[in-house]
Amino acid sequence: MTGRFAAVALPLPIADPYTYRVPDTLADRAVRGARVVVPVRRQELVGIVLDPDADAPPGAVEAKPLLAMPDEPPVLTPSLLRTAEWIAGYYGAPIGLTLKAMLPGGLWGRSRAVVGLVATAGIRGGQAAAALAWLERRGGEGTVAALGRALGRPAWEVVDRLLRVGAVTLRIEPADTSADRATERVLALSEERPTLLERARIFGRAPRQRQLYEALEALGGASPVAHLRDRLKFGDGVMRGLVTRGLASVVDAERVRDPFAEDLGTPPPTALTPPQAAALDGLETLPAGEAALLFGVTGSGKTLVYLEAIRRAVAAGQGAIVLVPEIGLTPQTVSRVRGVFGDQVAVLHSALSDGERADAWRLVRRGERRVVVGARSAVFAPVSGLGVIVVDEEHEASYKNGETPRYHARDVAAVRARLEGARLILGSATPSLDTVAGPRPPERRLALPMRIGDRPLPPVEVVDLRDAPRVPGVGALPWSEALDGGVAEALGRGEQVLLLLNRRGFAAFLQCPDCGVVATCERCSISLTIHRNPSRLRCHYCGYAGAVPEDCAACGHAVQRMRGVGTQQLERMLAERFPTARLARMDLDTTSTKWAHHRILEAVGRGEVDLLLGTQMIAKGLDFPNVTLVGVVDADTALHLPDFRSAERTFQLLAQVAGRAGRGPKGGRVLIQTRNPEHHAIRWAARHDAEGFLAEELTLRRSPPYPPVVGLVNLVVSGNDEVAVGRSAARLAEWCEALVSTHNLALTVLGPAPCPLARIKDRWRWHVALKGDGRPLGQVVRYAARRFLGTRDPRVIIDRDPVSLL
Ligand code: ADP
Ligand code: ZN
Repeated sequence: MTGRFAAVALPLPIADPYTYRVPDTLADRAVRGARVVVPVRRQELVGIVLDPDADAPPGAVEAKPLLAMPDEPPVLTPSLLRTAEWIAGYYGAPIGLTLKAMLPGGLWGRSRAVVGLVATAGIRGGQAAAALAWLERRGGEGTVAALGRALGRPAWEVVDRLLRVGAVTLRIEPADTSADRATERVLALSEERPTLLERARIFGRAPRQRQLYEALEALGGASPVAHLRDRLKFGDGVMRGLVTRGLASVVDAERVRDPFAEDLGTPPPTALTPPQAAALDGLETLPAGEAALLFGVTGSGKTLVYLEAIRRAVAAGQGAIVLVPEIGLTPQTVSRVRGVFGDQVAVLHSALSDGERADAWRLVRRGERRVVVGARSAVFAPVSGLGVIVVDEEHEASYKNGETPRYHARDVAAVRARLEGARLILGSATPSLDTVAGPRPPERRLALPMRIGDRPLPPVEVVDLRDAPRVPGVGALPWSEALDGGVAEALGRGEQVLLLLNRRGFAAFLQCPDCGVVATCERCSISLTIHRNPSRLRCHYCGYAGAVPEDCAACGHAVQRMRGVGTQQLERMLAERFPTARLARMDLDTTSTKWAHHRILEAVGRGEVDLLLGTQMIAKGLDFPNVTLVGVVDADTALHLPDFRSAERTFQLLAQVAGRAGRGPKGGRVLIQTRNPEHHAIRWAARHDAEGFLAEELTLRRSPPYPPVVGLVNLVVSGNDEVAVGRSAARLAEWCEALVSTHNLALTVLGPAPCPLARIKDRWRWHVALKGDGRPLGQVVRYAARRFLGTRDPRVIIDRDPVSLL
């Protein structure tokens, strides 16, 4: 067959692009990175041109034609496309799925193609006139698919002809453009709040109402009725009960709108401190394309350094990307960026609809927004003239994508910076070992060793839970007199307290005191967590929720015991012990609604919360000067997980949460409760000594070798049949061994072994891991990507540089 052909990536799990014929009419616009509408089986999809001059398809296969090309210039810049190709190669992911992760959903895949009428003049007779007449009847626009139905034949050809003479426009928009409703019903507590004693009287015979009341309190005093009903399972009767008692009312509230859109931002401090100025000098002279680690203790003013570096780039006509671990948890950072760059900023966050996301992408692509702030996927923002990429809190595991393509945004940022000649700034008070001691350490290290105003880092006191005097009457809660006294004192002085307990729910698990059996999820090999408000046994992996059994499923013993405390239990205890303190709880259960994080953190910032308790969510980058005490209720929750990074995670969490204390003139202190005071993660965190920790941890990673001393690829096999999965894992290990010996690769094969979480959502899980240098690992990834693509049951996933081996 003759003519021109284009290779087109489609958002499907297939290894190779599809080949299409390029019709003459589209020939001049078919360039790399352009969006095209193509026929796929019986439907039309939007894909991306990878190669506009591809080979003809092999044999007698007849290539179908490209149907349309909606934009000019192409959506993807050449360097973004090369970044995608790097990801696909390095992580062993199909290029189509990689591009799918890169582009906003609304821009391709099952998008709608909409034709708009421009002019009818001069078009007479036939299909073209019929199409224009149809458009006119429809008020000027309609989808290509609907037009095809009206004409009784596919409409692409006629659309293309009309497009060329300028009679119509064509745009691709998200399949779903249904807008959110503008208002919603919210149940809000009244101003007058009963004390705990009064509550006992008021709610005597209405325990559900008390639960609802307390759930509302935990949610910051108000919550959408839909959330209370659908997620927390409170009935209408219970809600009416609170209203009848005058304790709450239902209000029609404007649906919470994007607070980032309205926030005018926080103005930055006016002058740099000498260490900040020195760090900036270091960035100025950093060669383009290279990375610098900004290693600054908590409260050292890293943000201002980022902002100033970006300001200089923008002044020189360039653009910038700021990555944050989770946008909801870092409103202060976003606000500070807004404060400097105002309308130049596009904030990309998960609550944007497909349409809003696509709009933001276009604004950035056209250069109408020069600075982009967002989580992981914002690393793909089509900023032109990219001058700076900032990765704030670079050690955070949330930068790693949990599905194909399993990319790490920090590492992608490094690749993109190199391709586009941008400077990469990796900021952290607790940098990852991967960054500090990995195969490509940052070109430069810039230190901010002191807090702003030379404030000291807060002293940390380690409370040994094995022998510390405990407060009686708090059940299973590890609650020492030292921590209790600290909280009482800080509250007494009108200061704020942060309490970290990295376990949500009420209690970690339910155990029979007679036979010892623990209630576990039927679909996952994990114990069920006890929740209150509503009372439920929940699986944190698959979302299963069931009633809390009265007696043991195994032996029938009548009384079951709760073990291990969670945030709900801590909250209940605190409410009883510090009845006048205004509490807020922040964990996955209180933050499931849009902007919930934002509301809680703003309340803390305005001084409306005295005691904020929560999971690791409260440890991230918050800057509240009135927080003088940080307490870690149980530092050991993640210390003994079977993962080589558990010590590093624990150190980072403790050092970060400790860094929230004493940021203002009143100073502050930190109390860490643990049963492992000798553990190096805890010892170094107590001294705020990240260098010390990194050095000791690195020696531990040498033998047996673990990243960053070696590279790691984890191949996970999963499926519904336990025996079949085990067998396939054995075959996978043999396949790896054979590959290693045939190609003489210097790699160690580990396993097969069951994953520590041996079953999730009814799928059994085994893994085989390979350790060694990047080059031979890359070879295995390439082979594995072809071999295991699209396998379903059992399925094999390739996780290169995994952040977790669970
Ligand atoms: P980090 O991210 O390093 O923990 P932040 O960037 O949050 O620290 O800065 C800590 C606090 O110091 C913030 O309240 C910030 O406004 C303030 N700050 C930073 N730089 C300066 C400066 N040059 N002058 C005065 N205050 C500053
Ligand atoms: Zn489960």
